[in-house]
Amino acid sequence: MIRQSQWFVKWVLPASLSALVGGMLFATLYWAASETNDVAAERQKDLVTLIVSKIQTSVAHDQESATVWDDAVIKTKDRDLDWIDVNLGQWMNTYFSHDAAVVLSADGQPIFRFVAKSAAMPSSGDLRQAYAPLVTRLQERLLVGDQQGVTDKTLSIGESDLAYVGSRPAVVSVKPIISDTGEIGERAGEENLHVAVRFLDDALPKEIGSEYRFAEMQFTTTAPDDKRHSQIALTSRSGQVIGYFNWHPFEPGTNVLRATLPVLGLAVFGVFVAASLAGHAIWRRSVKLHSNRRELQHLALHDTLTGLANRAHFKRELALRVQQTQPDETCSVLFIDLDRFKAVNDTYGHPTGDRLISLVAKRMSEILPGALIGRIGGDEFTVFLQRIQAAEVAVIADRIVACLREPFDIDGVHVSIGASVGAAIGPGASADAAELTRQADIALYHAKAAGRNTYALFGEHMDDLLRSRRKLEQDLREALETGTQIEVVYQPVYLADSSGPCSVEALARWKHPELGSIAPDVFIPLAEEIGVVHTIGALVLDDACSLIASLPETRIAVNASAVELGSPGYSLRVLSALAKWGIEPARLEIEITESLVISREGETDQNIMMLRAAGVKFAIDDFGTGYSSFSRVQNVTVDRIKIDKSFIGAIGEGKNTAIVEAIINMARAQGLQTTAEGVETDQQREVLKSLGCNNIQGFLMSRPIARGEIIALLGPREARIVRV
Ligand code: C2E
Ligand code: CA
Ligand code: CA
Repeated sequence: MIRQSQWFVKWVLPASLSALVGGMLFATLYWAASETNDVAAERQKDLVTLIVSKIQTSVAHDQESATVWDDAVIKTKDRDLDWIDVNLGQWMNTYFSHDAAVVLSADGQPIFRFVAKSAAMPSSGDLRQAYAPLVTRLQERLLVGDQQGVTDKTLSIGESDLAYVGSRPAVVSVKPIISDTGEIGERAGEENLHVAVRFLDDALPKEIGSEYRFAEMQFTTTAPDDKRHSQIALTSRSGQVIGYFNWHPFEPGTNVLRATLPVLGLAVFGVFVAASLAGHAIWRRSVKLHSNRRELQHLALHDTLTGLANRAHFKRELALRVQQTQPDETCSVLFIDLDRFKAVNDTYGHPTGDRLISLVAKRMSEILPGALIGRIGGDEFTVFLQRIQAAEVAVIADRIVACLREPFDIDGVHVSIGASVGAAIGPGASADAAELTRQADIALYHAKAAGRNTYALFGEHMDDLLRSRRKLEQDLREALETGTQIEVVYQPVYLADSSGPCSVEALARWKHPELGSIAPDVFIPLAEEIGVVHTIGALVLDDACSLIASLPETRIAVNASAVELGSPGYSLRVLSALAKWGIEPARLEIEITESLVISREGETDQNIMMLRAAGVKFAIDDFGTGYSSFSRVQNVTVDRIKIDKSFIGAIGEGKNTAIVEAIINMARAQGLQTTAEGVETDQQREVLKSLGCNNIQGFLMSRPIARGEIIALLGPREARIVRV
């Protein structure tokens, strides 16, 4: 189709245009030429008519050079035939090309007859028949002394006509032989007469032709019926047509046309070349526009970074493809969420994050050739599969997880992430694209909940789980409204060297009326999602402040979620809680996560700055589980590092010691305190002590305990609280 229109614009259109222009030019020229030819032909006819009448007059005029002459009067009277032959016959032939001459007596009897040698000899009868009517008329005029037509130039009257002499057309002219001096008196009607004949066929047309440049001039008895010839009729005085002069007309228009044709051809070629060039240019331009439009269309439908379908395009395409699938075929939707992508982005910067996303897209495209793949969020991808059975979908989902677990090499940096995949499978046509999407999303949630780096296929039980999650959300809202179910427990923190308690960490608990105690690992993320984590944070903080208000020397730590710390007004809420209970800000330590330290979303920086300015301490919780490197932590102003319990677990068996030692040394170099969490054995405690860790926290010393137990532990025996 495109090839056809290219051919059309580049060649057919220019050719048609030049043919049209050429055709119009040619038609105009042709019309002008034939008009010119017509006018020229009329002129030529007029000219030939004039020439014929001139010949007629000139024959008569030629005669007068000998017939108006005293000698001729005398010699004809004397019937001196030799003289007559020389002067009235041969002379006329020689000088005027007359073909025949006859001298008649006054009564019309021939005295002398001359016929040129070249002329076919006409019989005397033929001659007489031709001149008799003219002679009769002249005699009559002579008798009555008619002088009409006599002028300075025409010296005598005469009669002439076009007539046949025998079979040949001729100008026949009769003149009286009269005195030129008037000294020879003659009575009217007694003059001798001279007849001159000039044939119109044979030599005469040729002479006219060469003299006046008429091509192929000739005499014919009938009018030629071909269009190539022009002709005029030769008519006698009586109106009888005696024949035709015809010739090939001079056609100036045709000549001009012929001369112009090469120029016209060149012009047409020029038009063709110009139009073709324009056609090429137009084509190039339209191709460019077309590709621009395609690019724009592509941009509108695809993610610029990966070239995959964007959210809107994927959604539309999914609905369309699901509809087109046969009822006995299957449709599957896969949701893929990268694990720890945000940490990579925050650690190495956006350009590396972007490169990572492109590489992820590339890997997925490689293992899913031809599938519809979309990027629907920063690190969220979707895949649509058709005609693939559930077992195979599971294999594909597993392959995606495996391929994204492999490290990525980005400009020499090895980056390891992972992916969680949720998949939903439905029957073709009857499947609802929106429902499939919802199910894949739920499956993804389960994959993540199952510890990430794995996949989950949607099953009905998930809906049940979803329902119970919805109920839990509702319950949490109610719990916070009543303010009775959220409780706070406290886990003491000890000095590593002396084993005495030095502070406590406040930990939230949810006592669900039906489900019993729910761990904060479950309800804190839920509270973050439904936007109620501030309420929990405020509740815990208030409880913590009220506790240490009664334990004047004790320091307290609270956990703050990233959502809280990024929200405007957090610092003010903390300061007002401290003020309410009259607590020294330096006694409060806020534990924040590693990723929060790096990403610093929203108002995080301002909040930290303001609280630190007031004297509040900060600690990085779960250090080592995030993606931060030491160098990054160096840039962040905190007071303490809490080494995650995952490092501590194996420390007693001699593993991880080097890492923990490095963390402690780094912290010391930065002037930061260290706390090791999850200390469960004496061995761990001894190692940490030997490594120079400041504080230890864990089940070995104490589990999180109720408020009353803390007061019992720390209140009455203030001496056990050791200042750090
Ligand atoms: P976290 O801040 O790291 O708190 C320490 C967690 O480790 C607590 O679990 C604690 O019970 C547990 N733990 C303490 N010693 C040991 C030990 O020797 N062995 C083992 N295996 N575990 C030990 P918990 O109370 O379930 O809290 C879990 C997480 O929930 C906390 O981790 C914290 O991130 C979050 N969280 C708890 N309370 C709050 C809160 O009020 N606000 C916010 N934003 N998060 C909270
Ligand atoms: Ca903590
Ligand atoms: Ca921790």
